[in-house]
Amino acid sequence: MNKFSELGLSRPLVVALEKIGFTQPTPIQLQSIPQILAGRDLMASAQTGSGKTAAYALPILECLLDPETMPRALVISPTRELALQVQEQFERFGTEMKLRSVAVYGGTGFDSQTRALKKGVDIVVATPGRLLDHVERRHVDLSGVEILVLDEADRLLDMGFMPQVRRIVSGLSLERQTLMFSATIDEQVERIAAQYLTEPVTVRVNPEQVEPSEISQVVYRVNEFDKDSLLVKLIKENEMPSVLVFTRTRMRADWVCDRLNESSIVCEPIHGDISQVNRERTLLRFREGKLKILVATDVAARGLDVPAISHVINYDLPGNPEDYVHRIGRTGRAGRSGIAMSFISEDEGYLVREIERLLGKKLDPDSQVRKKLPPRRFSGRGSGMASARRLG
Ligand code: AMP
Repeated sequence: MNKFSELGLSRPLVVALEKIGFTQPTPIQLQSIPQILAGRDLMASAQTGSGKTAAYALPILECLLDPETMPRALVISPTRELALQVQEQFERFGTEMKLRSVAVYGGTGFDSQTRALKKGVDIVVATPGRLLDHVERRHVDLSGVEILVLDEADRLLDMGFMPQVRRIVSGLSLERQTLMFSATIDEQVERIAAQYLTEPVTVRVNPEQVEPSEISQVVYRVNEFDKDSLLVKLIKENEMPSVLVFTRTRMRADWVCDRLNESSIVCEPIHGDISQVNRERTLLRFREGKLKILVATDVAARGLDVPAISHVINYDLPGNPEDYVHRIGRTGRAGRSGIAMSFISEDEGYLVREIERLLGKKLDPDSQVRKKLPPRRFSGRGSGMASARRLG
């Protein structure tokens, strides 16, 4: 018997999952799906990459079953990219059902979203600001929402969306079921949970399950001014089918792209100064493998769902250690192996220590041996590489 049907999902979903090729539920799915189907409120700590979207999308589809005229499920997400990807997953899992979903987000025209909302949808996946605009213009009535999901609750908080979220939630029925997903759970997240959830079950996937085990983490101690040449060298000398390069700022993303282009390496930046249309176009080419290298900021890459990234390169280390885990989680998805490379300049040493504290292990076990450049063909298995280490 299919493992997903054992969790209580019925035939249309099991068939769709078989077609997609999902055979084994991930740990977060194993723990969450039965609880959500039982009608419980839920607080889950889970990262992107853990399968968290399916952990709520599948039981939501199961609960809704047949289409109606008003939205019955609402997912609030911090970014447009995440909203789009989540809605795509609803579509993907719902191919054998008649439920309709729409992604509602800012930075693009109102018309097509308004039309979709007025035609009647069952599932709305939205960023807070734009959803509130639609609610205030009476394009959508959320009073029939039975299941609310706050996805990436920590990000919603960080990005300052809570005032809008509060206004949206105040218009929902108190009878609803509420699910919260968050990569990190701190006091603020707990306060929101206490406010919005009723006798929730708590689901945590333990850190080994969060930090994908198939990721080799490699550290390069490098002078700030040598980062560009190191990056060019790494890209030219290694086989890298799909690379996500992270920089600290939008300007630096553009700068790095220009340096790579100058060295005849094709790449595109993705960040908040680039129009939504262009971001989506770039992302699609990257997903389809037509574009091999993407240079991104953390915000732009948040929730980015590209299953086949082979290399994540931290041109700059992130300002907080959780983002490091987020970033490297972009590779090594769903059992694939991946490589995360981090450039560390003299003044980024303290960031390394914070990351190591979070991971509970050394990132750079051999830091005395400061290898600046990789061997000609890097196997990704850490062999012959003084500062490479396999974690997990
Ligand atoms: P998420 O954590 O929701 O961003 O999902 C991470 C990736 O894992 C996505 O590409 C999903 O399509 C994929 N995924 C989710 N659940 C499963 C599963 N049970 N088996 C295989 N892949 C999965």
